[in-house]
Amino acid sequence: MSSRVLAGLSEGLARLADTVAPRRCTGCDEPSAHVLCEMCVELALALPVPPPRPAAYGACRAALPLAAPARGAIHAAKYRGCRRAIHVLAALAAERLTPELLAAGPPEAVVPVPLGVRRRRLRGFNQAEVAAAALCAACRLPPPRAGLRRVRETPAQVGLGEGQRLRNLSAAFRWEGGRLGGGTVWLVDDVVTTGATFAAAAYALQQAGAGRIEAVAMASCARRGG
Ligand SMILES: [Zn+2]
Repeated sequence: MSSRVLAGLSEGLARLADTVAPRRCTGCDEPSAHVLCEMCVELALALPVPPPRPAAYGACRAALPLAAPARGAIHAAKYRGCRRAIHVLAALAAERLTPELLAAGPPEAVVPVPLGVRRRRLRGFNQAEVAAAALCAACRLPPPRAGLRRVRETPAQVGLGEGQRLRNLSAAFRWEGGRLGGGTVWLVDDVVTTGATFAAAAYALQQAGAGRIEAVAMASCARRGG
């Protein structure tokens, strides 16, 4: 079967999975008509917001820890093509993060972290694009800007010297959306783990003229480094 047929099939299956209501809450696995049941939404809203991590490009924020109930919703999106799980997480992120983010005014642009072409084809959609669009809608901002391209997977940064680290970062992403005007850019992804992907994408945006970068993830893994 050609890769184009496979890509079409996976997209079709993803769409199908998206239209069928989940019978169980993705957070606690209890029967539920919603992606996250009322108790899981309450739990998510009651959890403390992970503290923002300062970064050379600005800051990195996550709405929730990558634990219950966010972990199940992320998995449902990633492995079962459930886009609505990302919509729910983006709504939670808007509720928890944007008052602070918007205090500095609206961003110049909201940019999703892209997947590589092959992975995007296999999965049928990019969770970061869905999250960015839902975040823009929730904050009444213009739709996300396209133009960030993943040139190759972000290599591990741990244990590298500054020169090699910068070379790696500059090779991972390319901005092809025209010169940016020096304003703040919100860079959106589903999950942040080491932060190396955000750093690489932020580097490309700043090379293209972006000012401060606010990296925004739906959920954050506790691991550090990179
Ligand atoms: Zn639940």
